Amino acid sequence: MRHNSAAVPLEALRHFLTKGGAEFDENVAVYWDRAPDASPAKFVLKVFWKLGHPSFRLRTLRGKFRLAPFDQKVYAIRHVQVLHPALFERPGFLLPRIWAAFPCGFAAAIAASSPRETGQAPVAIGEKRGDARVSRRKVADMIAVTSDCPLFRPRTVATAAEIRFSLPSSALWSTKMDSGRLKSFVEAMWDEAIVPSLVEYIRIPNKSPAFDPEWEAHGHMRDAVALLERWAREKLAGLEGASLEVVRLDGRTPVIFIDIPGEGRDTILLYGHLDKQPEMMGWTDGAGPWIPVLKDDKLYGRGGADDGYAMFAALSAILALHAQNIAHARCVVLIEACEESGSYDLPFYVDHLASRIGDPSLVICLDSGCGDYERLWLTTSLRGMASGTLTIRMLEEGVHSGDASGVVPSSFRILNQLLARLEDQATGSIVPSEFYAQIPPARSEQAKEAARVLGKSLYTKFPFAHGAGPVCDDLSELVLNRTWRPQLAVIGIDGLPAPGNAGNVMLPFTTAKLSLRLPPTLEGAKAAERLKTLFEDSPPYGSTVEFSGNDSATGWNAPALAPWLEKSVNRASRDAFGRDPAYMGEGGTIPFMAMLGEKFPQTQFVVTGVLGPHSNAHGPNEFLHIPTGKRVTMAIAGIIADQFASR
Ligand SMILES: [Zn+2]
Repeated sequence: MRHNSAAVPLEALRHFLTKGGAEFDENVAVYWDRAPDASPAKFVLKVFWKLGHPSFRLRTLRGKFRLAPFDQKVYAIRHVQVLHPALFERPGFLLPRIWAAFPCGFAAAIAASSPRETGQAPVAIGEKRGDARVSRRKVADMIAVTSDCPLFRPRTVATAAEIRFSLPSSALWSTKMDSGRLKSFVEAMWDEAIVPSLVEYIRIPNKSPAFDPEWEAHGHMRDAVALLERWAREKLAGLEGASLEVVRLDGRTPVIFIDIPGEGRDTILLYGHLDKQPEMMGWTDGAGPWIPVLKDDKLYGRGGADDGYAMFAALSAILALHAQNIAHARCVVLIEACEESGSYDLPFYVDHLASRIGDPSLVICLDSGCGDYERLWLTTSLRGMASGTLTIRMLEEGVHSGDASGVVPSSFRILNQLLARLEDQATGSIVPSEFYAQIPPARSEQAKEAARVLGKSLYTKFPFAHGAGPVCDDLSELVLNRTWRPQLAVIGIDGLPAPGNAGNVMLPFTTAKLSLRLPPTLEGAKAAERLKTLFEDSPPYGSTVEFSGNDSATGWNAPALAPWLEKSVNRASRDAFGRDPAYMGEGGTIPFMAMLGEKFPQTQFVVTGVLGPHSNAHGPNEFLHIPTGKRVTMAIAGIIADQFASR
C-alpha cells in the first residue's frame, strides 16, 4: 500500500476541500493516498476526527460533496483500501466510513463505530443522496457490495473512514506555468545533477556496436547504462507510479524504458540514445573524446550532446512540471544504445515493448540539431541514406607504373568515371533524377526563413581551410542542398598506400566507401539498389566493378504541426529563449523517426536537439552547449504541459 507521497499535491487537495467549507484543525486528521490505478487525479481521502465533533463532520462532508456535479463517473468508488494500521490504534478517534459513489449517480453514506468494536457492523449515521437520509439497512447493503474486495475486512470497515474520489484537474493541477520557477528548477537541475553526471558519462568509451563489435565484453555500454539508470532511479523515486526497466533482448544492445504515469489517455514518447560515435582524430591538445572538459558554458567530450543529455533533459522536464503541479500525459522515455549504428536493434525493442509504449500522440526526439543557440529549432525532416562500398579491380597485382600507364587503365580513374555517373564533377549535384524527390512548397518557404535567420553562419560554422568556401552563395539553396537534395560524400578509400609508402606502381584496385544522403521522402533500400545498377552496368574496359550496399535508411518528413503544437512551440521558444522558433530539415538520419512515422501516422513530432554550430557531433571537439541544453529542457516541459492542456 502506498502512503502519503510527496508527489501528491497536498496543497491543491487542501484547497479543494476548504473551498467546500471543510476546516482543518487539531481535531481532524486527513490521510490521503493515490487510488490503486495510480492516476494522479484519483485519490483516496481518509478523514479522521475526534469524538465530539459531529457537526464538523457533517458540515465538512456535505460542503465538500456539493462542490462537484454528482453525475460524474469519476466519483465512483470501486475498491476499498486498508488504512495504515497505526492509525487504528489511536484512541479517541471516531472512525466513520463514507462512501461517495455508485455508477448510477451519487450517494454518500456515513457509518460509524468505535475502533474497539472491530468486527461489528457499522452504525449508519446518515447518507446523502440529494438531501435525503436513508436507513441503516441501505448502508449495510453498500458495505455488502464492496465486501468482495479482498482488502475489505470487518476490522478495517470499523476503523476506516475514507472518501474515494477524483479531483477535477482544475482543482488538482495548476494550469499556469510559472516560467521563473521553471527556469530556476531546470537550471539548478542542470548545474547540480546533469552536468556532473554527463562529465562521468563522457569518460565512458561506450561506442556504438558498429564501432565496438566487442561492446558486450568490454562492458562500457553496461557502465553507461548503469550510470543513467542510477540517476533516473533516484529522480523517479519522487514520482508516484513511475518505473524504469533496462530491457535486454538476447544478443542486442539494451534499451532503458521509463514509464511515468500521467493524466488522461494520451502517451508522450521521449526518445534519445546513449551509444557514441568513435573517437575521430583532431581533438585539440588536452582534450579528447573520453576527457570531459568544461569551458565557457560548454562541456567538451564525446557523446554529451549526441546524445547523452537526452534522458537527463527528458526527465528534468517532467520533474519540472511536477514541481509546479502541472498536469501532463503519461510519458514514456526510451533510450536506445544502437543509434549510431543505424538503430538495427531498435525495431526488435519497438515490437517487444509495443503494448507498453502504446500509441503515442506526441513523440519528442532529443537527438537532433539546431541552427543556432538563439531559439528553439524544430527539425522538419531528416534525410535518408544509401551507403556502400565500390570496388574497381583492374589488375591481379600492382605493376610498374612506367611500364603500365597508357596501357592499363587506372582503377582510380575508373572510380572517378563511375562517380561521374552519379555526381556532376563540377557542381556536386547528383545526376540521375530518380534520386530526387519533390520538395514540398512549405519546406522551401521554411528553408528561406532558416536561411534568413542564419545568414552566412550556415556555412561559416564549418571549419573551412583558409580561402575555401561553400558550393554556392545562395543561402536557401544551401539549406535545401543539405536537407532535401541527394548529396554524395566519399568517406573512405582503400587500395592506395599512404604517400610516404607510395612507389611508382599502377595499383591493382581501388575501393571507395560512399555515403549518399537522400531526400527525406525517398525509400532508402530502393535507392541503394539503383546505385548498384548505376555503378555495375557496363564496366569501363571490362574491369570488375562491385558495389555492395551495406546499409540504407529512409528519411523522414514531419507531418504538419497540429495547431495546438504550433502555438505551443512558439510559446515554448519565446519563454525559454526569448525568441520565435525556427524550422529546418536536418541533413542527417535518425532511423527511429522514420520507423515511428510509419507506425504512427497520426502522431505529432517534436524533433529537436542541441547540436548547433561547431558542436561537431561525430567529429573532434564535440561539445554540449549547456545553456541550450537548459533552454531545450524548459521548452520541452512547456510543450508537454501544453499537450495535456490542449486535449
Ligand atoms: Zn545522435
